[in-house]
Amino acid sequence: MKQSPDMKKLEEVLRSGRIVHGGFLGTDSRRLIEIIETDLAAVERLGLTCVSIAKRMLELTEAARPRYGAWMEMDDYLSVRCEDVKGSIVCPWPHAGRFVKRITTAHRRDLDQTISWTDLNIHMIAEHGFFEGKGSFFRLEPEQLAGIIFPASK
Ligand SMILES: [Zn+2]
Repeated sequence: MKQSPDMKKLEEVLRSGRIVHGGFLGTDSRRLIEIIETDLAAVERLGLTCVSIAKRMLELTEAARPRYGAWMEMDDYLSVRCEDVKGSIVCPWPHAGRFVKRITTAHRRDLDQTISWTDLNIHMIAEHGFFEGKGSFFRLEPEQLAGIIFPASK
């Protein structure tokens, strides 16, 4: 896919620290379109879709929400915790969208692996296929994320 002028402008916003400290692309020097396409290929290799991943993330966030700050055991392997970080954040894409700053952490006790995401991550994965750039604070590696949030069989 060719980089459109809008995509270029968006990439500038993502790379800047205007919305989040350090920006959404971290130390990733690849073009935005390349980052998105590479992650999409990884998602497809996993037999998943961005929407199904985001849906599962939201399900875990919603499950942990009533017990703010406390770990909740989802099953024999997975624990989740949801924490509120005061304030809200806008989606960097050019549309109206504001999200509460909430961080969900999922911990796989059997794998001893932990991963955290924000409500904005869920939205950006579902709507924009964007897992952030490598080196950014909330970069999510599709393989690692899927390996933690989905049961071992998936
Ligand atoms: Zn958006």
